[in-house]
Amino acid sequence: MPFCDHVLALDIGGTKLAAGVMNRTGKLLSFVRVPTRVEEGPDIVIERLLKLGHEALAASGHSQGDIAAIGIGCGGPLDPVTGRVQGPPGLPYWDDVPIVELVTDAYDRPAFLENDGTAAVLGEYHFGPWRGVRHMLYLTVSTGVGGGLILDGRVHRGAAGNGGEFGHVIIDWNGRVCGCGQRGCIEAYASGTSIARRAVEALGAGPASSMRDVAVVTAETVSTHAAQGDRLARQIWDETTAALGRAIAVMINVVEPQLVVLGGGVTRAGNALLLPVRRAALAQAMRPAGAAARLELASHGDTVGVVGAAASALVHLQQGAPS
Ligand SMILES: [Zn+2]
Repeated sequence: MPFCDHVLALDIGGTKLAAGVMNRTGKLLSFVRVPTRVEEGPDIVIERLLKLGHEALAASGHSQGDIAAIGIGCGGPLDPVTGRVQGPPGLPYWDDVPIVELVTDAYDRPAFLENDGTAAVLGEYHFGPWRGVRHMLYLTVSTGVGGGLILDGRVHRGAAGNGGEFGHVIIDWNGRVCGCGQRGCIEAYASGTSIARRAVEALGAGPASSMRDVAVVTAETVSTHAAQGDRLARQIWDETTAALGRAIAVMINVVEPQLVVLGGGVTRAGNALLLPVRRAALAQAMRPAGAAARLELASHGDTVGVVGAAASALVHLQQGAPS
């Protein structure tokens, strides 16, 4: 294989598919996105993903032959060694999908599959503005809630490739049913899907709220209306940030990171999310761990998934094989 300076990244989300071409210094040369339309099933979604990859290549001015490898980020569970997606809660019908084989065949280039939370932590660790950080925890708050972990400067994938699934930290064992089948996971409260669902349920009880005028209530509806002073939206939003703060305090106690980075669509709410979550998490963590940790928003914003998948491909190329 000739020496190539670029990688293609494919990011499979429950709501959006994204693709981009990145060089070895972390510069993103293209970034394109389309809705996933998960209800259409894996075959059609993968067809759309492969087409999007070609669009990303064209937009970057590069061809398939210029690409050293392809990084694929996807919600877990998945097996990064066999390259198969194993029925993530956010992707119904994706029960045993050999995505690496399909992508390798389509582009004739080596491909690597990474849990999207792990991919994102790699992207932030290698290409974010965080200097001197050796212990980093990443939490994606999106359609679902995922995570990734860097310990002493090394990515942690765990025994089966899905280590760092922080979305399934349980904050109430009698709580709401989660997509994973358990009760009370943080994902069942703080994911974009769960925030919207809790708002719809609360509206069903009949209180006055400006959210009643909205045809389809989303997490963004809740954060926007909370900022505008709607009482019900405020209540749902405060519960969300309290739940996230509580869960992150647990994670901080377990990992004792120097840095916790929050990314994903729900973090578009900015300081309305970051400030209360930071306050709650650091106040509830054990003292030495809480005092050592900072909480910040992801530096790559909406492109964090693509930068992460690209970073994962670069790390695999450097290491020679998945480890
Ligand atoms: Zn769960």
